[in-house]
Amino acid sequence: MLAIEDLTVAYGGNAAVRRASLTIAAGERIGIVGESGSGKSTLALALMGMVADAARVEGSIRIGGIEMAGAHEKAWRVVRGRKVAMIFQEPLSALNPLRRVGETVAEPLRILNGMDRNAAQARTLALFKEVGLPDPEAKARQYPHQLSGGQRQRVLIALALSRDPAILIADEPTSALDAQVGLRIVELLNDLARRRGMSVVFISHDLASVARATDRLCVMYGGDVIETGPTAAVLAAPHHPYTAGLVAARPRIDARRERRARMATIEGVVPALADLTEGCRFAGRCRSEMPHCAGERPRVSISAQGRTVCCHLTDAAVTASEARVFA
Ligand code: SF4
Repeated sequence: MLAIEDLTVAYGGNAAVRRASLTIAAGERIGIVGESGSGKSTLALALMGMVADAARVEGSIRIGGIEMAGAHEKAWRVVRGRKVAMIFQEPLSALNPLRRVGETVAEPLRILNGMDRNAAQARTLALFKEVGLPDPEAKARQYPHQLSGGQRQRVLIALALSRDPAILIADEPTSALDAQVGLRIVELLNDLARRRGMSVVFISHDLASVARATDRLCVMYGGDVIETGPTAAVLAAPHHPYTAGLVAARPRIDARRERRARMATIEGVVPALADLTEGCRFAGRCRSEMPHCAGERPRVSISAQGRTVCCHLTDAAVTASEARVFA
């Protein structure tokens, strides 16, 4: 359904995403995790053809078999919404405060799908019902500020679904919501993916949400895809030191029982875009760092179970019988 290969998105000489490769099958739910500045949102914007004009995009983005890297805006307008759609993390700022939410969803149905006013209105109400908005007729007449955060996010999901996309990108869809409401949005996305056979790209820094929302996980750091694999397997036994740090830093409900237990952290911060190096970008924060890590980019190793990891430790440990290693 979607395949990116050796994708680089660079601003000036600095790669915010560096030679990323990833495939997403039809109906698959994939999570992209990492700290702020890891390249998650830049990758998502590249998949929507929405990176800034100043960005240099290299490599391949194939959506439904069509090569979209470097495609003209006119070509992206055909793909955007129909093949791939996106919801954003702050629904209040993503919705027009001066328009009733029903009009916000009905307008693209009229303009892009060619529906008349009545058909667009009926479709809007059907979408509101599908995303679980109570009393769709009344909600359609309301403005964004009259809805709760969870209801606003459901309106945005309805808007994204209006052209029946094959892939839905959800960029931090729960981060502006409280835990219970966020959980219900995750359940809604799972339900929609199953009923529609739709692929979901779930971007988050919240590993608990990702564990519920995805089948496969992609961990990013400093613009690099550093580990991928089945979500449960990666979270249970991470291979990359950064993934291990993220998993260890998860808040644990039983930690309070352990007296004097302190929450684990990863020391340091993600380097700024201008400070990203050619070698392993986790060097400087990694407790397992070796002398060559900072100057030499690790290769990607792929295991027999289909897990990938990009680290000199794994690179050195794999044998021909365990894994295939490629540059
Ligand atoms: Fe740590 Fe080196 Fe692996 Fe980077 S390549 S994660 S610095 S061990």
